[in-house]
Amino acid sequence: MCGLHCYVGRGLLIRPAEERQMEDTIAAISTAYGEGGIGIVRISGEEALPLLREVFVPAGSKGNEGRKIASCEELTGRVMRYGHIFDREEDRLIDECMAVFLKGPKTYTTEDMAEIYCHGSVVSLKNTLELILKKGARLAEAGEFTRRAFLGGRLDLSQAEAVIDMIKARTDTGYDMAMAQLEGILSMKIRDIRKELLDLQVDITVNIDYPEEDIEEITLKNVADKISSIDDVLAEIIENSRSGRMIREGIRLAIAGRPNVGKSSLMNAMLKEERAIVTEIPGTTRDTIEEAASIRGLPVVIIDTAGIHDTEDAVEVLGIRRSREAFERADFIILVLDGSETLREEDRKLLHQMGDKPYQIIINKMDLEQQLDEAEVRRILPQADIIHTTMSTGEGIDKIEERIEALVYSGDLHQKDSILVSNARHVDLLRRAHEDLQRGKAMALRGEPLELIEVDVRSAYDELGQIIGETVSDDVLDEVFSRFCLGK
Ligand code: GDP
Repeated sequence: MCGLHCYVGRGLLIRPAEERQMEDTIAAISTAYGEGGIGIVRISGEEALPLLREVFVPAGSKGNEGRKIASCEELTGRVMRYGHIFDREEDRLIDECMAVFLKGPKTYTTEDMAEIYCHGSVVSLKNTLELILKKGARLAEAGEFTRRAFLGGRLDLSQAEAVIDMIKARTDTGYDMAMAQLEGILSMKIRDIRKELLDLQVDITVNIDYPEEDIEEITLKNVADKISSIDDVLAEIIENSRSGRMIREGIRLAIAGRPNVGKSSLMNAMLKEERAIVTEIPGTTRDTIEEAASIRGLPVVIIDTAGIHDTEDAVEVLGIRRSREAFERADFIILVLDGSETLREEDRKLLHQMGDKPYQIIINKMDLEQQLDEAEVRRILPQADIIHTTMSTGEGIDKIEERIEALVYSGDLHQKDSILVSNARHVDLLRRAHEDLQRGKAMALRGEPLELIEVDVRSAYDELGQIIGETVSDDVLDEVFSRFCLGK
């Protein structure tokens, strides 16, 4: 196996099968396991058509005897045919179905493919697949169809990764983000940046190799400026990746406050379902409860914490420790205060803990007579933004939701074509390229030799190449495609 795969542009290079390490023909059930209207078995590889001819009998050959001798030669590409899956050896009718043969390279995998649309029965799908495997196909590994699409040059690696993100997306925004990546928005940007890095490398190399020739001399100041402008683009993508991660994995939201201030009520209002038990006995939210919600199309994981306060109660102590841990894991903390009571020591302690992470102060129970001294809250946290709520009527909840939305789409980020990177592998490579460029720029400013600067520029170029899979090892590919489901 060769260690590196080289990929030249989208659709430019369809390499021969033996080089693509996909010589065998694979098959899998591509629809979800379980009952359904239809279920699809897919085949990909050189043997797709012969295999389909062996297992599928187009309509017209009545009875098993007829099917056994039926000729399937008339199966032509891209025309869906009605017929039967029939095991000629066992003389066994397996299912009534539709089937289509798709000639490569204009297919999902770039290879010859066949698709069989069976009844959505686990038994029918299993038997159809088993028959195809018996006839010589190999069971596809998770993500192998998409891996072949990548190896065949139809998708680059970041686009292939977008496919799995689309399948796994739980919200509209997460789906849109993956769709944009599949459309190649990230790939195009990465290609542009790499093109600039390559031009810079060429300029540097020419100056190193032919210093006496009559060529435009590159100054270290030019190099530093050029690196800097490329790096600014990288820095912006990295900065936006925080939003990308939140959209993909969910914003982790911790709801803090002493007992009985209305935390569970807030959580319920946001979940719009009575999930946490709301009671009037202080300290009943003993443990942290995590719930997944969707707020304005954004995935949110709400961590309801036990009130953080001094207590002798062992169970509650455990809850408090978990709350502190929840704070650490949270992206955003909502601190709820009870407006109908004066500020207590526990509230003050919590107020003093705010500041490290984005937070929101809520003064709840506005429907009751107000006792809370808001000025004291402002003395502790002069910058605090305060939202007044009445959880029992839902008053103010929309403001909290607005604030969460603003947190994700800080500034003018929420533009349709802004590049949101959420994949940890991509973010890591972008960071590494960013560090290379920072180092290169610093060296240029210090007046160090071009040879040394060129090493960092080349390294950044290679790191970025790994995002789209231009230079990537088999280990990385195995890791990426292992996240896929079978049949994709
Ligand atoms: P937690 O212990 O902080 O989770 O507080 P809960 O959400 O369980 O609420 C404690 C009590 O306060 C419950 O009886 C709620 O119905 C009540 N409560 C919550 N929010 C409000 C509000 O805005 N106004 C009034 N009057 N009662 C509220």
